[in-house]
Amino acid sequence: MSQDAQARPGRRVLIVEDSAAMRQLLAFAVKRVPSVIIDEAPDGVAALKALKAAQNTPYDLVLLDLNMPIMDGLKLLGRMREDPTYAHTTVCVVTTEESFETEKQALLLGAKYFIRKPVNRRTVEKILAEVFGQDP
Ligand SMILES: [Mg+2]
Repeated sequence: MSQDAQARPGRRVLIVEDSAAMRQLLAFAVKRVPSVIIDEAPDGVAALKALKAAQNTPYDLVLLDLNMPIMDGLKLLGRMREDPTYAHTTVCVVTTEESFETEKQALLLGAKYFIRKPVNRRTVEKILAEVFGQDP
């Protein structure tokens, strides 16, 4: 068994976002979570690869943009819902999409949170605290 496979589960975050600047901004907030491991993906296909690579220690949280090239966020959410491996992975959509219909669709597809850009740092921190607890 590799060391990776023995690593304790928990505090793993995947940031799925095509904008490098936005990924950096989100990673900055997530890095405040103690002993967190952060991976990043620029589109849905890269995210699926990351999810599969981490299936022995699934991500606790996926921060998910919707508008991305190659595979968009809603399509990725649909793929995740088809696979029980990701049943305990919390999904937080982070998007410029204003439409309530899109929000409803994302929530139906299993997203727990839906936040709109520009991202409010306190909102992200509140969600991180809910997912990971307040304790270091
Ligand atoms: Mg985008």
